[in-house]
Amino acid sequence: MDVRIKFLGGAQTVTGSKFLLEVGSYKVMVDCGLFQGPKEHRVRNWEWLPVDFFKIDGVVLTHAHLDHSGYLPRLYRSGYQGSIYCTQATAELLEILLKDSAKLNIEEAIFARKKGYSRHQFPRPLYDMDDVNDTLPHIKNIPFDEAYILQAGINVSFHKAGHILGAASLMFQIEGDHQRKRILFSGDLGRYNQPLMPDPTPFEETDILFIESTYGGRSHPDGDPKEAFKEIINRTTSRGGSVIIPSFALGRTQNLLYYLRELFLDNTIDDIPVFVDSPMAINVTHLYQEYDHLHKLNTEEGAPDIFSHPNFHYVTSQTESTALNERKGPCIIISASGMCTGGRILHHLYHRLSREQDSVFFVGYQAQGTRGHRLLSGEKKIKIFGEQVEVHCEIAEFQGLSAHADHNELLRWLSNFKKAPKQTFIIHGERDSSVALATAIRETLNWSNVTIPSFLQSFHLFEGI
Ligand SMILES: [Zn+2]
Repeated sequence: MDVRIKFLGGAQTVTGSKFLLEVGSYKVMVDCGLFQGPKEHRVRNWEWLPVDFFKIDGVVLTHAHLDHSGYLPRLYRSGYQGSIYCTQATAELLEILLKDSAKLNIEEAIFARKKGYSRHQFPRPLYDMDDVNDTLPHIKNIPFDEAYILQAGINVSFHKAGHILGAASLMFQIEGDHQRKRILFSGDLGRYNQPLMPDPTPFEETDILFIESTYGGRSHPDGDPKEAFKEIINRTTSRGGSVIIPSFALGRTQNLLYYLRELFLDNTIDDIPVFVDSPMAINVTHLYQEYDHLHKLNTEEGAPDIFSHPNFHYVTSQTESTALNERKGPCIIISASGMCTGGRILHHLYHRLSREQDSVFFVGYQAQGTRGHRLLSGEKKIKIFGEQVEVHCEIAEFQGLSAHADHNELLRWLSNFKKAPKQTFIIHGERDSSVALATAIRETLNWSNVTIPSFLQSFHLFEGI
């Protein structure tokens, strides 16, 4: 039996993760991500891929982030009929994320039609809500740490990877005619010693390894998040102002709530209300409460429910959200989108950017061209709802809340292996990051067979096993 791999995305980029693993005649797609970011990457979502989707036997997901899952509805639209295997928390997150993604795709198509910038007269979304509804019933929940038989002789197991709720590293075991082989996909790896998510599961052996390299060659900034939050909040409240935090709904918002609760308990910030003003962030927070056995603050073990502090208010309706504009007195507003490209954060910025006493506090990466990036670069006028809004409030940032292992943490995870895999593929990273990690692996671990694959490249992993 032969085993092959084909890279359909996530190779020398951080998005579009899709890896086609062929074991004899069985074809399984590992992750099914959307390309995001620069246009030359996004067009790949629309391009034909050299794979017959209806001939794929199964899709296995590491986690719910759209760069690993957001292509699924398109896959079903293109004829795929098989199952999606993932952890239960991933499955629940997928429903929230894919529906939001369909909504954004539909809005973008309508916008393109209105503005006439598409080369199509009637631009269509990549997928719509019907495609998402066709996708969701095919999801099968697989428990952590148990081998699931995909087909006779091929099983897969899910192991906690930290990162976000439900995220897993995937270990495939293949029983060949003559030999048994293991293939490990790291998935996105989380960080060590985090308050919420566990450390990524260590592994000692595998025959083939696929490791992510998002932060290859880079380190997360030092600095205590609690101290950073305390400073900006106290500085702002002493002026009588409010702190607006644009935040990603999944992972980042829950981390923020953890630190804010700690600050309230320490009595180091004023007792002011915190409004979580994002329906998606609220739904995701409920999942963190429901699946608390997957993170470190398990209430069954006596830990308090950190998301239920009396100062926390979850704003569901649009009316309540808009009413926050009229609020007098200091408060903290956490809202999405994290890069200020859309969502409820826009009306908060529209009303608060010109107020000297308020602050906008960024806690996540801001891509070039976004309002978030422009505010951080010091622009004094920002266009919102077609109007130029003057910026007089304080703009600040803290970039130490990443959910990804950095360079040293990736090496720490790799150092658990007792011997070098037969072959290691560096995936899910910009080229420079992948090169930096590959170099470090060769030099510090002395592993020789390290490969940085390119888009659409394929490799024989085993022959005649
Ligand atoms: Zn991720």
